[in-house]
Amino acid sequence: MPGLLLSVSFDDIDSRFWGCTTHLAGLFLVEASHLPRVRLADYPLLVRLNPAIPWKTRGNAAVVARLWVDGEDAAWDTCGLAESLAWEYTAPRVGEPEKQPGVACVLGRPWESRVARALYSRALTDVVTVDEALRVAWRIGARVAGGRGRIGAVSALAALAPGDPYTYELTAYRHPSMWGERRCVDHEAAAKVEAAVPPCVFNNYDPQRGRLTAAPGGPDPVLAGFRGTCPEWLGAYSTVLCEEPHFWVLYRSNQHTDAHARPLGPPRPYKTGVAKAVVESDPRVAAGGHVFVRARLEGGASVELAFYKETGPLNRAARLLRAGDSITVLANVRPYSPHGIPLLTVEKMLVQRVAASRIRASPRCPRCGHRMKRTGRGGHYKCPRCGYKAPLSPLVIPEPRLMGPGVYTPGEGRLRHLTAPPWLSIPILESLEGPEWGMATSTSANPPVQHPPASTGAH
Ligand code: ATP
Repeated sequence: MPGLLLSVSFDDIDSRFWGCTTHLAGLFLVEASHLPRVRLADYPLLVRLNPAIPWKTRGNAAVVARLWVDGEDAAWDTCGLAESLAWEYTAPRVGEPEKQPGVACVLGRPWESRVARALYSRALTDVVTVDEALRVAWRIGARVAGGRGRIGAVSALAALAPGDPYTYELTAYRHPSMWGERRCVDHEAAAKVEAAVPPCVFNNYDPQRGRLTAAPGGPDPVLAGFRGTCPEWLGAYSTVLCEEPHFWVLYRSNQHTDAHARPLGPPRPYKTGVAKAVVESDPRVAAGGHVFVRARLEGGASVELAFYKETGPLNRAARLLRAGDSITVLANVRPYSPHGIPLLTVEKMLVQRVAASRIRASPRCPRCGHRMKRTGRGGHYKCPRCGYKAPLSPLVIPEPRLMGPGVYTPGEGRLRHLTAPPWLSIPILESLEGPEWGMATSTSANPPVQHPPASTGAH
C-alpha cells in the first residue's frame, strides 16, 4: 500500500474572461509532481455535472486529483497547496462576485460512501445547494473551502468509482502569452487524422463543417481537448496543433458516458434525466429550423420537447415524429414554459415504436378521375378539370413512415459533454491505476502518451 489516498477537488475556478478549472487543476498537478511524498493514484478526473445548471460558464466541469500521500501531514500540506493556488489564481477576478471557487479534500475512498454517491448522482441531474454539499462533506470528513464552487468540488469526489464507465480527454493548454489570441489549428490535417484513427475517438471533429471541434473558441486557456477511449490514439491529434502547447494533461472522465441518464421524475426546472414519452402532436418547425413536439411523459405530465437545429441528425429525426410514437428522451428541463407546459431540450432520443400514421388527401373526381380541390366550404370539393362540384369525404390513407426505431443523437463534433455516442463501446473502471506522473501530465510540447503515427492506418 503506497500510503494514504487523498482526493483533491476543484470547481468554479474559471471566469467568463479568462482561466478555467481544468487549467488550475493542471497547474496544481504540475506542482504536486515535484513533491517528494506525493504520487498519482489514478489519472486526474474531469467530471462533468448537470448540463442544465444555468450558472456554469461552459461545460460544468470539476476536476479531482486522486493522490497517494505519505502520511497525514503530507496530505494536508498538499491540500493547502491546492487551496493557495486556487486563491492566487482567482484573486484577479474583480467585479465578478458571482464566481465563487471551491476546493475540497478528503482522505479515503469517498465513492464508497452512500451519501457521497447520492450527492454525485443529484449533481449530475438536479440542483444541489451549498448546504447539501456541506452536509455530505461533513459526513465523509472532507475539508472544504470557498464559495459556490464547493457544490461541484464536493459532488465530484465520488465520481468515477470502480464499476463506472469512463472515457479519456487529452487536453493541451496554451501559454499565457497566447490567451485571447486566435488558436492555430490545421483543420485539413485534422480531417486526415480523423480519417486515420480507429473509432475509439469521438466528438473531436465536425465533418459537416470541416472543423476540429476539440479546439474551443473564446479566451480560455484550453488549446484543445481530444476525447476517446484510447489515449495512445488521442496523441495523434497533437500533430494538428500549429501552436505549441504549454503543458498537457490526460484525464479520465465521465464525459460521453451517459452518466446523467437517470430517471427524470417530475420535470422541474434545471433537472436532467431520462423519461419515456408518447408523442401527442406532429412536429412544429419554428423559425430557425428548431423543432417542437408535444409529448406526454410516463408519469402523466404533458411537456414540449425542443430539438434544436444545431443537433443536426437529431433535429432531422424529430421532424419525422408523429402523434402516437413511443420514445425515450434524455433531456434538460428549461426554466421557462412558453406554452404553459414544461419545455425540455432533448440531447438524445430512443424511438421505441413508430405509430401507424394516416394522412388525408382530396378524393378523385367521380366524373373525370382528376384530383379534386377543396372549395373552402365544409366538405365540398370541386374538380379543377371538369368543374364537377360535390360534398365528398376526404381520402384517409396510410402515411409511409420514414423513420424506424433506433437511437438518434446530434452528429459528431456536436454531442453535448455527457452524451454517449450510440456506437461507442465504453470501458468500465476496474480499479485505480496509479500512473507515473509522466503518463498523465507533460510540460513539453509533446503529449504524455506516445501515439502510433496516424498515417500508418495501423488499426
Ligand atoms: P469551466 O468548464 O471553465 O470550469 P464550468 O462550465 O465548469 O466552467 P463553473 O464556472 O465551474 O462552470 O460553474 C459551475 C458552478 O455550478 C460551480 O459553482 C458548481 O459548484 C456549480 N454546480 C455544479 N453542478 C451543480 C448542481 N448540480 N447544482 C448546483 N450547482 C452546481
